[in-house]
Amino acid sequence: MSLCDIKILLIEDNEMNRQLCCDILEIYQAQVHEVESAEEGLEYLESEIPDLILMDVQLPGMDGMQATRIIKQRPGWSQIPVVAVTAHAMTGEMEKIRQAGFDGQISKPFTITNFVAEIFRLLGIESE
Ligand code: MN
Repeated sequence: MSLCDIKILLIEDNEMNRQLCCDILEIYQAQVHEVESAEEGLEYLESEIPDLILMDVQLPGMDGMQATRIIKQRPGWSQIPVVAVTAHAMTGEMEKIRQAGFDGQISKPFTITNFVAEIFRLLGIESE
């Protein structure tokens, strides 16, 4: 199993979480572009279309919910799978995540297995 040649946009303001995600994704040979804010992420999408977006929900400035609503309403962007990376997955939060248009969800703290399984699922890659 590998994510070789898969382009992932990682939007995460916390440096430790960003590093952790990158470390895992690099093991699987994904090409990761990291940004610290939703605004930077949207700017990146103006020139590059990744295969998948990992979106921290809690971000300073525009949050991950609002950014995902924008992505899902825009032709050319709406087909990109967006995964919510959230600190708390309470019932109310899960409903908001669905309504915002996220395609998947990963709760922090996550295990490497859970993290990659969700990515493989959304990319349609069989994992064992
Ligand atoms: Mn955050």
